[in-house]
Amino acid sequence: MLTMEEALERVLEGTELAPEEEVSLSKAHTRILARAVDSPRAIPPWDNSAMDGFAVRAADTQQVPVTLRVVDTIPAGGVPSCDVGPGEAARIMTGAPMPGGADAIVMVEDTHSVGDEVEVRASTKRAQHIRRAGEDVQPGARVLEPGCGLTPARVGILASLGLASVWVRRQPTVAILSTGDEVVPPGQPLGPGQIYSSNTHALMGLVWAAGAIPIDCGIAPDEPTGLAEAFRRCVGADVIVSTGGVSVGDFDYVKEVLEKEGAALDFWKVRMKPGKPLAYGRIAETPAFGLPGNPVSCMVNFLQFVRPVLRTMLGSPTPHLPVVDAVMDEDVRKKPGRAWLERVCLKRSDDGELHAFRTGSQSSGVLSSMVRADGFLLLPIDSEGCALGEKVRVQVIDWAFLEGASPDFRWK
Ligand code: AMP
Ligand code: MG
Repeated sequence: MLTMEEALERVLEGTELAPEEEVSLSKAHTRILARAVDSPRAIPPWDNSAMDGFAVRAADTQQVPVTLRVVDTIPAGGVPSCDVGPGEAARIMTGAPMPGGADAIVMVEDTHSVGDEVEVRASTKRAQHIRRAGEDVQPGARVLEPGCGLTPARVGILASLGLASVWVRRQPTVAILSTGDEVVPPGQPLGPGQIYSSNTHALMGLVWAAGAIPIDCGIAPDEPTGLAEAFRRCVGADVIVSTGGVSVGDFDYVKEVLEKEGAALDFWKVRMKPGKPLAYGRIAETPAFGLPGNPVSCMVNFLQFVRPVLRTMLGSPTPHLPVVDAVMDEDVRKKPGRAWLERVCLKRSDDGELHAFRTGSQSSGVLSSMVRADGFLLLPIDSEGCALGEKVRVQVIDWAFLEGASPDFRWK
């Protein structure tokens, strides 16, 4: 039997970066940046006004009120037609370039205009309400590092640099194959003994959430010829993920079929609960995972082993799920021998501390307790559980937490 760490190390071995591709900025959201971006320009490009108001010489406004002669009007998108001399002011809009001679902005609310004169009612300091050239980004400055996810703000700053396209990692395609005679797609009537394929769709969601592209390769029967055919449908994707048929049941043909097809897969028992069986190897050079059929085990194994591979292919410097400290709100008793990942809710108490409590039945078939889970309580192999009030580690699976968490998320 392998530990989770050993299994993870093996699946990450030889994982290659996905190729780069250039996409237009309008398609860049949520993609992973492949190349560093250094600014080709200063932002703002020139000194400009942060307010609608008047560009003045601060020295002229030390005694207020003071009346200045308005010599220019500068709209955003315009340029000054003259400098501002002593005793003068220029009407200016937010974002318009500063005129020569002026060194401060008085906001319009502190003025009163009469004809071509303005009465300034508040004294100003030099540089007041001026946005300096380069105060946001200096020319040549590193703006984004490779591997970062393109959030709305990051796409926004790329646009502000004038970049119309950006180099990102190509999204790996992931073939998803469910197996089992009892499994049918939702939307069809259920025959006797049949269930709907929740795994197909849970896996599709997990693949999207990891930044890759799922391909539904359907449901394979528990019969060698049909199963072999179904696996051939998966070839061509960057990664193959199947679910079911990898344990020791009478109709668990995945191992037999793949060996016959010449695929090189190892069938592992990983010392973890849920999710013990895991097949990993290559089908026609394509990395392939055989996940358990139980809906929770399937999702847990995906998150522990497939997601880190996809995130590594995408060049993410943080391919592992974030782990946070929390206070456990109940006793959990455990036998040593396997690592446990218990589904928990996370709640912040009034004193700001994170608390964890289990979501209900921890059976590997109970998907509703996965629905409520914010994360997995991590109990290492040798642990005998934890007590109410004890500090524990929780791997966070709530997607909103993922971006921007601390850089090393590995199970330790
Ligand atoms: P298996 O690993 O094929 O022995 O399946 C273990 C359990 O998971 C059985 O109860 C299956 O019915 C169930 N199962 C297998 N595949 C799926 C699927 N795609 N969706 C939902 N449940 C599944
Ligand atoms: Mg099965």
